[in-house]
Amino acid sequence: MDGKRLEYKGEEALKELERLTEKADEVQEGILKEILNTNKSTEYLNKYMCGSTDFSDFKRLVPVITYDNILPYIQRIGNGEDSSLITSHRITEMICSSGTSAGEPKLMPSIAEDLDRRTFLYNLIMPIVNQYIQGLDEGKAMYLYFVKAEMSTPCGLPARPVLTSYYKSKHFKCRARDPFNDYTSPDQTILCTDGFQSMYCQLLAGLVHRHQVLRLGAVFASAFLRAITFLEAHYLDLCHDIRTGTLTNKINDPSCRLSMLDILTSSNPQLADEIESICRKKPWKGVICKLWPKAKYIEAVVTGSMAQYVPALEYYSAGKLPLLSTMYASSECYFGVNLKPLSRPDNVSYTLLPNMAYFEFIPLPCFGDNGFKLIGDDGDDEEDEEAWRQKLVDLAHVRVGSYYELVVTTFAGLYRYRIGDVVQVTGIYRRAPQFRFICRRNVVLSIDSDKTNEEDLHKGVSTAKKLLEPHNALLLEYTSYADTSTVPGHYVLFWEIEHLAPNGVVTPVEEIRIMQQCCVTLEENLDYIYRRCRSFDRSVGPLEIRVVEPGTFNVLMDHFISQGGSINQYKTPRCIRSSSALKVLNERIKACYFSPRDPTWVP
Ligand code: AMP
Repeated sequence: MDGKRLEYKGEEALKELERLTEKADEVQEGILKEILNTNKSTEYLNKYMCGSTDFSDFKRLVPVITYDNILPYIQRIGNGEDSSLITSHRITEMICSSGTSAGEPKLMPSIAEDLDRRTFLYNLIMPIVNQYIQGLDEGKAMYLYFVKAEMSTPCGLPARPVLTSYYKSKHFKCRARDPFNDYTSPDQTILCTDGFQSMYCQLLAGLVHRHQVLRLGAVFASAFLRAITFLEAHYLDLCHDIRTGTLTNKINDPSCRLSMLDILTSSNPQLADEIESICRKKPWKGVICKLWPKAKYIEAVVTGSMAQYVPALEYYSAGKLPLLSTMYASSECYFGVNLKPLSRPDNVSYTLLPNMAYFEFIPLPCFGDNGFKLIGDDGDDEEDEEAWRQKLVDLAHVRVGSYYELVVTTFAGLYRYRIGDVVQVTGIYRRAPQFRFICRRNVVLSIDSDKTNEEDLHKGVSTAKKLLEPHNALLLEYTSYADTSTVPGHYVLFWEIEHLAPNGVVTPVEEIRIMQQCCVTLEENLDYIYRRCRSFDRSVGPLEIRVVEPGTFNVLMDHFISQGGSINQYKTPRCIRSSSALKVLNERIKACYFSPRDPTWVP
């Protein structure tokens, strides 16, 4: 019953981690057995396995699926049908993942026990970090956590992001206080859905306690950097509040106000002056260490798409604070923890926790310089994919050095569900695999929790480019790039446009209007999560189109070919990551246009 034994803390949690990893294969078998036994009568499993609980039947008969295959069941449950369609447990909520399906956020079924599983993983982090950094119980943690807008399904099940679910749960709100979880942010400020008020109050609390803060962090690196930019914009107000011991009336959420009164107990002009003089000095290199002089590290995910923020974090901390990427998780399932939290961001491996779900791995063939080829990504065949699928391996059979796509079977009703993440096995801890996160399949652009795939980008471009046609202009080629040199980062599209009519037909003013309209149209066509990040979370900035000189994309092709690409197989990459290719594009910019307004987003 490994799925049930989850309430460990401190040393106990570490011992449990040793036990689980030591017996990883057995734990996995136990998990699959439990899932099949408890869920065999569900409509879904019964359809494929006719009541059998045999492992080989499971592997032979249950298909490997993506979201669209399970979507009809999720919709039925969301509309009020019984959870027993897919699980014998009661589905208590739907978790909105950052993936989307037909423009809607993907909803993942979740049961009460999932919160225990997530808490189990969270409880491992401090004991692990403690092994490497001492004295963390002698001060506070300034962790900036946020909740997001919540929806509900037609039958009234809550539908919300996984972290929002966790912060609102009793697991978080009623956590036992101990010196290792002494946060500067009052819970009320974390639970405030107004992003501005939540950020303002959490930073204010962190600044008031600046001499006690031993560690800093946010879930993702992007959120931590947003806090730094927010501070840049608002430090005078924050200092005013500290100086006078009052709270700006921009904070009108009653529970935020109430909780902050306990922190702003008296005026503190000296503290305000210290902070103000640090913030006034530009540039802000090392500002984090100056503001929080006792901080020993920054904790945030800095792997995968968050790796792009490492240079900025290193800049603001003058390279003095280690960046700890402690865990790897998703809405569907939590996966693993980093047992060597001090490893550099480009060398982070996560150890799979075998009690989170039943894991299988689709082996990905290795090819060429970039190490692997994603099945289906070259547009070839479904057949290939099926062939590889049949070679699915379980945890005991993964090979160090090989690449895999993760597949999970959960207690909450996902069976052989493809997560879409590509990982490389880097080692085995006891008997549990450790892996490096490589990428998410088919994501071209990502700034925060948005994940835009090539298809959606193409759809957006195809709609937007139609706006050029009435003006005798044609979009010849395009590519894109996630620009994180601005905070928040933003999507950049490089467009090469051919003008069929002589210049001068469109006035410069009209040209700006048309191109801005193209930016707006593109954004309106991107998915729900992108539009939420833009309009509600404000974690992504306005989309930019950079129009490049005629012939630029030929130069780009020459560039890739000079780097060893094949002329026959050359396709314009729809997203650019190499700095030399970016240079080719950036050196040929004719004009830049930004989206002038937020895209539509309705919670
Ligand atoms: P969501 O479904 O919105 O919860 O997003 C989960 C996805 O975020 C995962 O499937 C990964 O693609 C990505 N992710 C989460 N944690 C990490 C991590 N530590 N490193 C890299 N990518 C991560």
